[in-house]
Amino acid sequence: MAKRVLISGGAGFVPSHLCDRFLADGWQVLAVDNFCTGRRSNIAHLAENPNFELMEQDVSTAFTVAGPLAAVLHFASPASPVDYMKLPIETLQVGSLGTMNLLEIAREKQARFLMASTSEIYGDPLEHPQRESYLGNVSSIGPRSVYDEAKRFSEAAVMGWRNARGVDTKIIRIFNTYGPRMKSGDGRVVSNFIVQALRGEKLTVYGDGQQTRSFCYVSDLVDGIVRVLENGDHMPYNLGNPGEFTMLELVQEIAKQVGNVDVQFLPLPKDDPTRRKPDITRASRDLGWTPKVPLQQGLVAMIADLRARLANGDAEMRAMLALGAIALSCLATGCKNDGCPPLAGPWKGFEKVSGFDVECCAKENTFAKHGHYIAYFHKTRKKAMEGVYVDDVRTGLWHAWKKSGTYDLGACYDDKGIELWRESDEAKAKARACP
Ligand code: NAD
Ligand code: UDP
Repeated sequence: MAKRVLISGGAGFVPSHLCDRFLADGWQVLAVDNFCTGRRSNIAHLAENPNFELMEQDVSTAFTVAGPLAAVLHFASPASPVDYMKLPIETLQVGSLGTMNLLEIAREKQARFLMASTSEIYGDPLEHPQRESYLGNVSSIGPRSVYDEAKRFSEAAVMGWRNARGVDTKIIRIFNTYGPRMKSGDGRVVSNFIVQALRGEKLTVYGDGQQTRSFCYVSDLVDGIVRVLENGDHMPYNLGNPGEFTMLELVQEIAKQVGNVDVQFLPLPKDDPTRRKPDITRASRDLGWTPKVPLQQGLVAMIADLRARLANGDAEMRAMLALGAIALSCLATGCKNDGCPPLAGPWKGFEKVSGFDVECCAKENTFAKHGHYIAYFHKTRKKAMEGVYVDDVRTGLWHAWKKSGTYDLGACYDDKGIELWRESDEAKAKARACP
């Protein structure tokens, strides 16, 4: 019988590629995801595969799995700085409760456990390049700490379960990875720059652009993960591409492929690491692993993927506009924990699209609290919208709105998709009506 692997976060960027790889290698795959940052479209192509199962589940809440498991791969966690700063509590929970829940499942099933840790556990490193023996320079209270410390706790939990409960464990520390399926709006630098370049917008370089990162193409990472799972020992392995680029060099690499680009310099986020480059001696010596895809080549695939997705997103957006009026509203005052409030005043006649409600509601507080936006569609048009994933809708809207440079609080379109008005000021937006 085929071996079965549980992949937490299976609908995410990296883990969806792992699902593909394990299925191709003849495994049965159980992806467990709550879609807080993942996308259904990442795994939509697997829906009909009899060896693939999806469990919609928050791994931070204790749960059980029926049937045998040979391996548990813990990849669930918001991963981009924008995502984990938007979801700080969830990030802490998935790195602590989620890790312990999955370690217990691995123990019960006598499955091998692999933890997706991160180069972030080195913080703003004082050693360069970073070896696995480096203990890090991490702020426990800074803006990145919810992610960095959650991952550090995860590593400690893995060692604890290994030493005290005999679980067969592996730890990988992933350095910046990019490739197809990366969310276009998740704020990470490669996707940000490519989307901006494709849209003819200025590339947002934070700080002076001299900070460095090492970018690993996703297929190389997946190959390294499989090698660690199969043949690695229990001590951490750095997995990343040692090629090191400043952010301005990344701009140049993208410009070579997309054409002329313009940049704008924005403030460097607090605690943004200044240098990062993995020492991968351990993985290459012990496992024969070296990344094969140079940045220039990986960018070709990533640009093609984003170009196609943006074209689809734009088409989807145009289709939505053509279908009828759309309102966007920041419901900071109107949203409740227990459900979707009915819209009143200028928003009367708009409602969430049937079928999206569960996800919309689950995310509403997070979105509203942080000033992000929720899509509402005029109720007479909702039928036509069925079948479109909410995440994809959101991505489309996000880009459409970000274009203006401000996040508009409300807008109204006529049924031909002509914009009637838009407002960035909440009070003014709420005071206006859609005809
Ligand atoms: P991603 O956001 O695309 O994927 C993460 C997935 O986890 C999403 O599908 C999300 O919905 C799911 N998830 C989050 N919390 C969950 C929960 N409580 N229960 C169930 N599912 C949950 O991010 P990614 O870039 O693919 O990263 C995947 C993993 O790899 C993360 O653990 C991340 O920390 C790690 N990692 C990634 C990188 C990188 O460069 N991509 C670098 C270092 C580490
Ligand atoms: N960055 C940037 N412009 C952007 C997004 C990110 O200059 O639009 C910089 C960011 O300040 C950091 C680097 O790119 O120095 C990598 O950021 P990312 O969010 O991709 O990953 P991480 O900081 O977690 O390595």
